[in-house]
Amino acid sequence: KPNVSDSPSISKVRVVVRVRPFLPSEIPDVRSCVSVIDGDGRDSSEVAVYLKDPDSCRNECYQLDAFYGNGDENVKQIFDRDVNPLIPEIFRGFNATVLAYGATGSGKTFTMQGTDDLPGLMPLAMSTILSMCEETASRAEVSYYEVYMDRCLDLLEVKSNERRKVAHTCFNDVSSRSHGVLVISVFSEGGVTGKINLIDLAGSGDNRKGVNEEIRLQESAKINQSLFALSNAVYALINNLPRVPYRESKLTRILQDSLGGTSRALMVACLNPGEYQESLRTVSLAARSR
Ligand code: ADP
Ligand code: MG
Repeated sequence: KPNVSDSPSISKVRVVVRVRPFLPSEIPDVRSCVSVIDGDGRDSSEVAVYLKDPDSCRNECYQLDAFYGNGDENVKQIFDRDVNPLIPEIFRGFNATVLAYGATGSGKTFTMQGTDDLPGLMPLAMSTILSMCEETASRAEVSYYEVYMDRCLDLLEVKSNERRKVAHTCFNDVSSRSHGVLVISVFSEGGVTGKINLIDLAGSGDNRKGVNEEIRLQESAKINQSLFALSNAVYALINNLPRVPYRESKLTRILQDSLGGTSRALMVACLNPGEYQESLRTVSLAARSR
């Protein structure tokens, strides 16, 4: 492993915001509760993101690293500006983490997986790393799994597709209530290894909305516990606390070697423009993570 003096200068988490557009199915006259004042982050090193409560005219403002509006080209922009620069670092032996954080329906999966027409950060990172592997005669290894109720379900193994199908039938779209984890490890010729974790986090916030079944309560407790553990670990890292509580959840254990130290981290906070309370929770946690 490279030593610390060789490390990239930024050790904090870079936090950017992405607002999705209103969907055709959403009431057309809902006003966006999100706005940004200090440009779009291209020129200045920070942006001020404003959240307006449509009911009380209250305004909240948070400083973040960059803001991405709802245009289609934005995934590519996030990739070019914030993810692509991490890739050469992986080939130099560093680890990196990209987290999509936000409530269910805020655009995390759209950002991370994307669609056939608009590939998300996962496929964009994958193809960039694979072509870089060819150029540098390196080898990449990929794992892709869901962390559901603190257990890992492999999404690449044939057998696990069965398990996944069962889980999905029983629990009805488990994917939005599990963390989707893609890990791409690179083995360079000189024996250097680095990796990038791309994570589509489970929906934050009140996961109990409208349901009181036992299983949902347990799921919800696990999600909140793991996201709380993640934010505690990030808090400890950025404040240089002597002990970082990695062992509190599966998620933080997975990220133990890829957060803090010489690792680089990017959080993409995803917002639904029609949901004020939800957006407020997401942005305030995001702002505390940098
Ligand atoms: P999450 O994974 O956070 O629950 P999704 O990624 O599934 O949310 O997005 C919720 C809905 O919004 C989906 O129908 C998705 O296609 C749509 N959507 C999200 N982001 C965008 C975007 N930037 N442009 C267009 N549609 C989007
Ligand atoms: Mg999703």
